[in-house]
Amino acid sequence: KKKQAKQAEVNIGMVGHVDHGKTSLTKALTGVWTDRHSEELRRGISIRLGYADCEIRKCPQCGTYTTKPRCPNCLAETEFLRRVSFVDSPGHETLMATMLSGASLMDGAILVIAANEPCPQPQTKEHLMALEILGIDKIIIVQNKIDLVDEKQAEENYEQIKEFVKGTIAENAPIIPISAHHEANIDVLLKAIQDFIPTPKRDPDATPRMYVARSFDINKPGTEIKDLKGGVLGGAIIQGVFKVGDEIEIRPGIKVTEGNKTFWKPLTTKIVSLAAGNTILRKAHPGGLIGVGTTLDPYLTKSDALTGSVVGLPGTLPPIREKITIRANLLDRVVGTKEELKIEPLRTGEVLMLNIGTATTAGVITSARGDIADIKLKLPICAEIGDRVAISRRVGSRWRLIGYGTIEG
Ligand code: GDP
Ligand code: MG
Repeated sequence: KKKQAKQAEVNIGMVGHVDHGKTSLTKALTGVWTDRHSEELRRGISIRLGYADCEIRKCPQCGTYTTKPRCPNCLAETEFLRRVSFVDSPGHETLMATMLSGASLMDGAILVIAANEPCPQPQTKEHLMALEILGIDKIIIVQNKIDLVDEKQAEENYEQIKEFVKGTIAENAPIIPISAHHEANIDVLLKAIQDFIPTPKRDPDATPRMYVARSFDINKPGTEIKDLKGGVLGGAIIQGVFKVGDEIEIRPGIKVTEGNKTFWKPLTTKIVSLAAGNTILRKAHPGGLIGVGTTLDPYLTKSDALTGSVVGLPGTLPPIREKITIRANLLDRVVGTKEELKIEPLRTGEVLMLNIGTATTAGVITSARGDIADIKLKLPICAEIGDRVAISRRVGSRWRLIGYGTIEG
């Protein structure tokens, strides 16, 4: 019998066309409504992810899969199998940028397809393409809104889905009819998650690394200095294990000016607490969103000031880069627009928006030659050669994702 875990061990991305039911399905599985950041979408493509966890449990009597301690079918006490985390994004471009920035935030994916619309819709296609580019092959297809169609329509839609995924990375993915709205067939989906999205083998001895997605000052205004709590980081651990008491380094850190020189200085601090949601941990591994309490001055962490930073043990992090050279892979056409605008090559002098891990920065191309571009970054990033960058360009009044690149120097 497996011991109940406090922390999720696998991250499952919710992908699929807008309004097909990703957030509703996350809610049906976890009880959490993750769609809180839609306002920020209008301003740009910031990496804001909604994480929500649930337990997958099985009834020893009748075999029903559930998230509840008691079997909804026969009321027996259920057995804990695994804690999983779902990663939902507020919108299509955020989701694409998140996937293409290669932050390895998803170990598998649920592709949500509404049964009451012809398949594929444009974003369904694009998300499958992104999964393909990333090589995420642990996929479950959910045929959602099954309550809105009759049996014949459901079958026709099923055939369309089959035809659509033929020859793709999702060719052999199971297709599960669901009504997220009515919480129907969720037990079958839970079983499929167990069968098709295994927890990846992780190396607990790998040098730990975390991408910071949020940062906070958790003190109430007016708190006395002696009672102040240190800055808090919220992020996704990509590899290894962090423990309470660890000394950590945060890059790129803070901008300092000494004399007439301005540069970025990494921060070092200590982990004083770890949490997954409201649960206190002594150590944390990849899976879900982790809160890290530090001894940092909370002024440094307030209002997401450290979003996009990378955390590791001192001396183990990649360099801070203010300039990068990338090899670009541009898409054929602009993502998420009806007009299907064709994407022109990168141009010297143009300003791009880049996502690397959880970092977002503007950058100006100082030299573009073929698919290679030298870019001067507005904000520095902490990244290795070979890391992935999602590239957006201003089209009309907003940023549109146009492809991804690989850092070559
Ligand atoms: P998202 O954009 O993919 O996150 O989609 P949402 O979860 O926000 O759902 C979009 C709309 O579809 C909302 O009005 C939901 O209430 C509705 N919806 C989602 N799932 C179902 C379902 O299974 N059946 C029905 N009838 N409506 C659904
Ligand atoms: Mg949503």
